[in-house]
Amino acid sequence: MSALAQRTGAVNLGQGFPDTDGPHEVLEAAVHALRSGRNQYAPGAGVPELRRAIAAHQHRFYGMELDPETEVAVTTGATEAIAAAMLAFVEAGDEVIVLEPYYDSYVAVIQMVGGVRRPVTLRAPDFRLPVDELRAAVGPRTTTIVLNSPHNPTGAVLRAEELEAVAQVAREHDLVVVSDEVYEHLTFDVPHVPIATLPGMAERTLTVSSGGKTFSFTGWKVGWACGPAPLIESLLKAKQFMTFTSGAPLQPAIAEALMLGDDFFAEFSAGMRARRDQLCTGLAEIGFDVFVPDGTYFATTDIRPLGFDDGLEFCRSLPERAGVVAVPHQAFYDDVEAGRPLVRWAFCKRPEVIDEALWRLSVLS
Ligand code: PMP
Ligand code: GLN
Repeated sequence: MSALAQRTGAVNLGQGFPDTDGPHEVLEAAVHALRSGRNQYAPGAGVPELRRAIAAHQHRFYGMELDPETEVAVTTGATEAIAAAMLAFVEAGDEVIVLEPYYDSYVAVIQMVGGVRRPVTLRAPDFRLPVDELRAAVGPRTTTIVLNSPHNPTGAVLRAEELEAVAQVAREHDLVVVSDEVYEHLTFDVPHVPIATLPGMAERTLTVSSGGKTFSFTGWKVGWACGPAPLIESLLKAKQFMTFTSGAPLQPAIAEALMLGDDFFAEFSAGMRARRDQLCTGLAEIGFDVFVPDGTYFATTDIRPLGFDDGLEFCRSLPERAGVVAVPHQAFYDDVEAGRPLVRWAFCKRPEVIDEALWRLSVLS
């Protein structure tokens, strides 16, 4: 979709990346690292100051106690953390529960390791977790749950009772939870709660995040995983033969980013909340059914009120019809019917870009 946007000159509200760089001091820290000789292989688990900064961040925001030596690993984006986790924890034939719609890399890596996915579908209009379906999805070969909250693409944030239900299932069936929390600092109404902080969960949860979303450096691909030492050790064994080690000079810069003051994090989510409101109000005025997200930088709409019924066809023709790119939910489902009329719009863009997109989209109403 980004290639389509480039080819057609459309406004790109498709792929989730901001159109402005993150904090200047973090950029400067990367430049400093590049110029001060930090250009050879970093340790496999990541540079020590980044591992310490990740542990300190988890303590500052969530009260988690992590040993940066053994319970934190730096990866090439959250994507590598998830892939290495699947390689480490899932054997051929094992079943893995994923929330559907799912971030596309989960399904691909589960397939690559010979696992079997068991989707549990979050359905419009409120995208809540159907707890009974989650329980029914667990079988004798289930080993792992991949969780994602705040959730891409729906923007749902799992509520306390939903997290507790997942935790209960995991404890009861002795499952590992891989919790993708890359949008942890993008919740608008309720604070983010890592599932690892629930009783009995720290010892079975791998928490994954990334500097890409929080600090608006998606192209740096600095991610991480934290969790109990045996899980981190297994993940690092997989990572050793995937990338061995991640880009060295960007790691100290993300360490500085993680230590930014509380104001940075508060302003980041308040700014994104304003853009959410700008985009969602505008899309509703055009005539879409809008599902206002509680988190992430994605909003979902149902396109049927405007006379369309297939999101994929709608998104393919949208650059020509209106000069805008969006992403069809269908890309994120096994149950294509559940996602057919849904379209995702990214609002991590400058307000004038969102306005331009809305102005262009007004031809649809
Ligand atoms: N998980 C989710 C839910 C995402 O939306 C993204 C964003 N691309 C990623 C993982 C990947 O993060 P990274 O770019 O750090 O690999
Ligand atoms: N997470 C972002 C998205 O869902 C970008 C990642 C990607 O394009 N694979 O749009």
